[in-house]
Amino acid sequence: MLRRTKIVATLGPATDNEAALSRLLSAGANVVRLNFSHGSGDEHRARAERVRRAAADLDASVGILGDLQGPKIRIESFAGGAVDLEAGQAFALDSDLDRDAGDSTGVGLGYRPLVDDVSVGDLLLLDDGAIALEVTGVSGGRIDTRVENSGRLSSRKGLNLRGGGLSAAGLTEQDYRDIELAAEMKVDFLAVSFVRSAADIEEARARLRAAGGHARIVAKIERAEAVADLESIIEASDVVMVARGDLAVEIGDPELPAVQKRIIAQSREMNRTVITATQMMESMIEQPTPTRAEVLDVANAVLDGTDAVMLSAETAVGAYAVNAVAAMGRICIGAENGHFTARSQRRLATHFRRTDEAIAMATTYTARHMRADAIIALTDSGHTAMLMSRQDVGIPIYALTRSAETCGYLSVCRGVYPLAFEPADPAGPALIREAVDFMVARGDVAPGDRVLVTKGDMLGPGGTNTMKIVEISAR
Ligand code: PGA
Ligand code: MN
Repeated sequence: MLRRTKIVATLGPATDNEAALSRLLSAGANVVRLNFSHGSGDEHRARAERVRRAAADLDASVGILGDLQGPKIRIESFAGGAVDLEAGQAFALDSDLDRDAGDSTGVGLGYRPLVDDVSVGDLLLLDDGAIALEVTGVSGGRIDTRVENSGRLSSRKGLNLRGGGLSAAGLTEQDYRDIELAAEMKVDFLAVSFVRSAADIEEARARLRAAGGHARIVAKIERAEAVADLESIIEASDVVMVARGDLAVEIGDPELPAVQKRIIAQSREMNRTVITATQMMESMIEQPTPTRAEVLDVANAVLDGTDAVMLSAETAVGAYAVNAVAAMGRICIGAENGHFTARSQRRLATHFRRTDEAIAMATTYTARHMRADAIIALTDSGHTAMLMSRQDVGIPIYALTRSAETCGYLSVCRGVYPLAFEPADPAGPALIREAVDFMVARGDVAPGDRVLVTKGDMLGPGGTNTMKIVEISAR
């Protein structure tokens, strides 16, 4: 049974050797994430190299996603390691304190402008919400707070403001350097963290293109402001990520389920792909099997229509990285099959602006009503395959392309299986025949199958203008 939903697996120490990586890919990781918040440029380069070798050995198409740290605000360090905070006690965030002079009464703050962004009564959340601090006073470079819940706080933890509104700039100096690195490594996706508006996406894309990178831009929705400006951010991006870790801290848990569903639905509707991320299989960092709640969380994201589900610490530092990918893959398949829905009924009443969109919709409609066995999209840009997959008709879409970049882009796309294909005569009359023969030789389709093939007369992106219905005969 083919899995339609894709899996993004974050790389880290747990998967930093050839054998572990190869098992991770064999278990079904479709995209790997390099998290630029951790590790050096050389470590990321080595990881990307290793992924490309392992993928080639397995003859698998694996996308690479570079994830910018973004303007994450962090506390500085404690002199004696982590501190234990008691509910009700006072605790200061002080930009005049030395970087490593923190103790249980307060800690340094590298980002001084924070003092202008907060006021008395605001709730600051540290370490993904594990510690909440209520602001009791602001003076000079110092924020006084009262600890709301007891807990341990360690150095360099991230900090969010409940309700959003922190004014940190979209891209940092480190992000600029990492964009250069992403271009050099030729990653397939560049994820922009803490996006506030479409302008952040445009800036990242412009810098990446200037550096020679081709990656598609992923907008991580993890700020309250981004939720408020969702449509224009989706419009500006190629891929959207429901970055639930920071998002839940900013908007609060009660809002999260509805916002996740809205982001996924809106992304699909606007012909973008979407990744659902963070804590999906969190307990598997230490346990070989997921909790029931995690099983349901992954399945729910699949039912919401996500293109991909993501693993973070589970595969970066977890003890059961390969199990996590395998278990996640099985849950996805179960959810896909247990609840079949043809999405986007609204497209039946829509006006198609482009020829490739019309062909894509005609093909999914026909495929469903003829119960076709497969769709084969001969594609340069991957656009037709992506459009068809917005319908999620449950029929595999094989995207045959000459472009390695397109293979990478489609690695995240639900129900689409990208394959490198170099036809003998791309513009000739035997192209469809050659494509079908290629698929039969691979064993993906067989004599007796009915397949729908899309292609363009003119070569080049966006040129799809033909759908052909082929009954594969025994020869
Ligand atoms: P992060 O992004 O893991 O880089 O923080 C994802 C999230 O916030 O959910
Ligand atoms: Mn985040």
